[in-house]
This record gives sequence, C-alpha cells and structure tokens, in this order.
Amino acid sequence: MRIVAGMGGGLRSGAVASITGAMLVVVAAAWGCAGTAGEEPADLVVMNGKVITVDVDLPEAQALAARGDRIVAVGSDAEIEPYIGPETEVIDLEGMLAIPGLIEGHGHYMSLGQELTQIDLRFARDWDEIVNMIAAAVTDAEPGVWIVGRGWHQDKWERPPSPAIEGLPLHHGLSEISPENPVLLEHTSGHGVFVNAMALELGGISRDTPDPEGGEIVRDPRGEPIGMLRETASGPVEAAYGRSRAGRPAEVVDTERREWVRLAAENAIENGITSFQDMGSTFETLDLLIQMADEGNLPVRLYMSIQETAEDLEGRLAEYRMVGRGNGYLTIRTIGEKVLDGALGVHGGWLLEPYADLPRSAGFNVTPVPDIERSAELALEHDYQMAIQGIGDRAVRVLLDIFEASYEEAARRADAGVDVPRSTDFRWRIEHAQVIHPDDLPRFVESEIIPSVQGIFACSDGIWVEERLGPERTLERGYLYRTLYDMGAVVLNGTDPPVELIDPIASYDCTVTRRLPDGSFFMPEQSLTREQALRSYTINNAYAAFEEDLKGTLTPGKYADVTVLTKDILTIPDDELSSAEVAYTIIGGEVKYRR
Ligand SMILES: [Zn+2]
Repeated sequence: MRIVAGMGGGLRSGAVASITGAMLVVVAAAWGCAGTAGEEPADLVVMNGKVITVDVDLPEAQALAARGDRIVAVGSDAEIEPYIGPETEVIDLEGMLAIPGLIEGHGHYMSLGQELTQIDLRFARDWDEIVNMIAAAVTDAEPGVWIVGRGWHQDKWERPPSPAIEGLPLHHGLSEISPENPVLLEHTSGHGVFVNAMALELGGISRDTPDPEGGEIVRDPRGEPIGMLRETASGPVEAAYGRSRAGRPAEVVDTERREWVRLAAENAIENGITSFQDMGSTFETLDLLIQMADEGNLPVRLYMSIQETAEDLEGRLAEYRMVGRGNGYLTIRTIGEKVLDGALGVHGGWLLEPYADLPRSAGFNVTPVPDIERSAELALEHDYQMAIQGIGDRAVRVLLDIFEASYEEAARRADAGVDVPRSTDFRWRIEHAQVIHPDDLPRFVESEIIPSVQGIFACSDGIWVEERLGPERTLERGYLYRTLYDMGAVVLNGTDPPVELIDPIASYDCTVTRRLPDGSFFMPEQSLTREQALRSYTINNAYAAFEEDLKGTLTPGKYADVTVLTKDILTIPDDELSSAEVAYTIIGGEVKYRR
C-alpha cells in the first residue's frame, strides 16, 4: 500500500525546492497494518477526488482516511476502501480537488468578528455612497450612539471626492447628516480613521491640537481638521468611543465578544480556512480564547500573538505561552503585530526615501524602536516568536537589524554557556514586507527571517503603488514575492482580514496572476507558480507557526484538516480561478462546512 508518511514531510519544501525524499523519515510502519484486511475503520473517508497532498512523498492521490482528528492513510480509492466500516462517514468528492486545510497566515481575529457587526464600506463606489450609508444608519440610531463603519479606501472609489485634500474628503457632508451621532469610519488599512465633527469634538481635536508623535491630523489650508486622522492621531477619538462602551455589564461584554469569535470562525470556515494566524491580541482577548479553548468552543484553530507594550509583556509571557491547547485549537507563542510603521495606502509605510506623491513624507515609525528591541529581548528570554509589521523598506531594514542582532545575541549567550535560550529555531517574521531594498533581500534567506507577505495586496494595492513609490522604485522593491521565493525565503500567504475579505481563492488568484480588478497586471513577473502559491497557503504558513509536523500537508499522523474546492485551481485557466468555490472544510476530521 502506498501510504504517505513522514512527520514533517514537506518541511520548508515550499521554500527549498531542492529538498529530497531522503530527508523524510518514512514511518509507514508506525501505522501498523494500515491498508491490510482487518484495518480498524476510519471515522471519515473522502474519496473519488484529486487529492493534492503537498507532501513530496506522494504528491497526488484519490482518497484519504481519518480517525479521530488525524489522517491515517492517503492513497488510491482501492487502497482507502478497506478503511470504510459501518460507522465511517464517506464523502464522495466527485472528482473535486482536496488540498491541505488552508491556513490564513496573517489576520486579526477579533477585529474580523467585530467587523462583521459593523457597516461594511469596502464596496462603496464613492464618498457620497458612504455618506448615504451612514445617513441610513443615523435614522435608526438614538442620539449620542456611535456609528461605526470600516473598510473604505479613497483609491478604490470610481471618482474622487469633491472637495478633496490629498485625495481625501472633508467631514462637512458627513457632519451634516449626523449632527447628533459621532461617526467613526476606519480606513481599510486599519492605519487611519475618518470622523465627523461630533467625534472630533468628543476626541478633543480642533485646529489647535498639534499632531501627535507617529500620527497626523490632516488639515485644510486654513488649518482646520478635515476629519482624517492618520495613525496615532486617531487615538483620542478611539478612546472616546471606548469610553462610550466602558461600564457595560461584564455579561454583555462577554456575550458580544463570544459572538465575534463565532462570526469570525464562521467566516473563516466557509472560506476554506482551517487555521487562523492572528497578528496581535490583548491579554483580555487571550483570556477569553483560553477559556473557550478549554470549553472546547473554538470552531477554528487559532495561532494567536500578543500585542501589548514591552512594559506590559514583562512578567506575563511565561504564563501565556501555550502550544496546542484545547485539542490543538489554541497556540500562543508569538509577540505581534506591533506595527513598526504605517500602511502605504495612507502614506504611513516607513520608507528609506520620501513618497513619490507626497515628497514631504517618508512615512512613520509608529511603535518606537526601543519598544520593539525590548520586546525582542523578552521574546528571546521566553522563547517567543516575533511577528512585527514592516511595510516600507526602512521599516523592513530596521526589523532585519533588530532580529539579526537578537539572533546573534542568543548565539553569544549559548557560546558563553550562560542564560542559554531554549530555542535557536527563531523563525521571526516581518509582517507584510511590501517594500524591500535589494540590499536587504538576501538577509531573509541568510538570517532565516520570514517575509510574511499576502498575495492579495499585490492586486488591491497594485492600482496605486506606482503613484506612491514611482515606477523605478516599485519595480526594484515592491511586492517581490517571486524574487523572495526563488531566493529560498519562506513566502507566506493570507488576506489580513478584516483589511481584505478572508478569501484564500482571491489571494491565490492574485498570487499566480497579479491581475488587477481593471484587467491590467501588476508586475506579473513576480507571480508565483500554482504549486508555489499552494505551498505558500499551506506548508509555508504551517512552518511559520512551527506546525509543519501537524499541518500544511495531507500526511498520515497530521491533523485531518482538509479543504475541498469545486475546481482544480492547479490546472484551470487563469480566467476561471475566481469561480472556484469551497465545497467542504474539514477540521480535525470533522466536516465543519458543506457548500
Ligand atoms: Zn495586519
């Protein structure tokens, strides 16, 4: 019987194309008489499909058997049939494609859940439409209640607002239709908000308010705030919103937050996501998730990171480090996603040279460098991974410097035999890594630092990247996913939900085509192959979470996490990719979603 085996099969194979089968330990014997007569029945069998395992030992099969939450065998239909007993759930794939459960490599779990309860502005065609949407919400709202929306982006509108300052609208229209309700509209990047007059007032922001460190109150030529608050400038308004929600009974808050957990999971699972890597949550959120993991109430596997200041991390990291809690549904072992810089879309990404379309600015440093350095020290001390946002080439360089210095420090300590860190396998990650200076590219490979990029951003940002960076710099440094992959870096994938829809097929499509919504192409030479893109969403994401022995390939012994798609995204024409749909999502051998 042909059984795919070998814990760790496919390890880093996405990045290291030359990995050989010899590196895989074939341990089929560990599954005893697997496949012979008298085999203990499986709980779940999927068959009659095209099973792409992403395991180099047996890349393609027809069927798979799972017992409990693990895969027990992969092979042809005939080979898997003996696993079918009277109680076995059998799924006929009818020729569809089964792949390792897709892993969202970078998202914001609770924000996603919360966002699913807010006004969705992502598909608004222009500013007027947004104002109309808010006006409709105001009609139903009691005076004083906050109206919160999310997901707008000025460059996605069919026509610019009029009047406009730096492409952004002015708040007056919004303030007119909502005189008694504060309005808070988050930019799709999460790096800025647009608010109305009442929200400005509640935040204590006026023409006399100076720009805070790491942020900007955008103003008209007379110095009046237009409503746009970049980066840290949104703090006072968000604090006012927070105050409006403070003092609610604990029960109400708990119910609301459990609903966010449920909504985010539902959204992930119906999109074929079996594991979700969260980039930054508070201890408060983690406490709830720990509780839900212990209750067995987490519907999707979570890999959480802690986003607190270095000061708050101290003394608490040991207590929160946990791997595979609640039957493999909750892992916490990462400090992230503190943001070293802002987003390119709002001119926040921290660049080595100024923006082409905003020459007065080279972006922002948001979280102070010393805080990141202190967090890195704490990470070494407590065997945590770092996952920090670096979007602009300056931010990326600063993070590479900090990470390399930390790795060296760990080596020095180990050599000296004192204070030896528990791990030398760091896998620290730079989140987004959208703009990278050519001098810094090799450092991702040499220093084994993970570029945690998201395929979809090449297509959602591709429309305006050249404006921000200018054509030459874009070509040299922008969204260099294929270059990184070919160099041997571990290229990840994801959609940064709720910044983008949690839609792995859309991100896969963009990763392999680089086709923009208008039909043009953004640096198509940086597309990954279909196979590379699949690895980026499976084994590479698993590796970036130290989970390559558990996830990322369809290999006996690993979790039975499987995504089934209606179309074969490895072979169908480019044009058809977007029509592929999720048919089944299976987590731990349990069918969690059926189309
Ligand atoms: Zn993010």
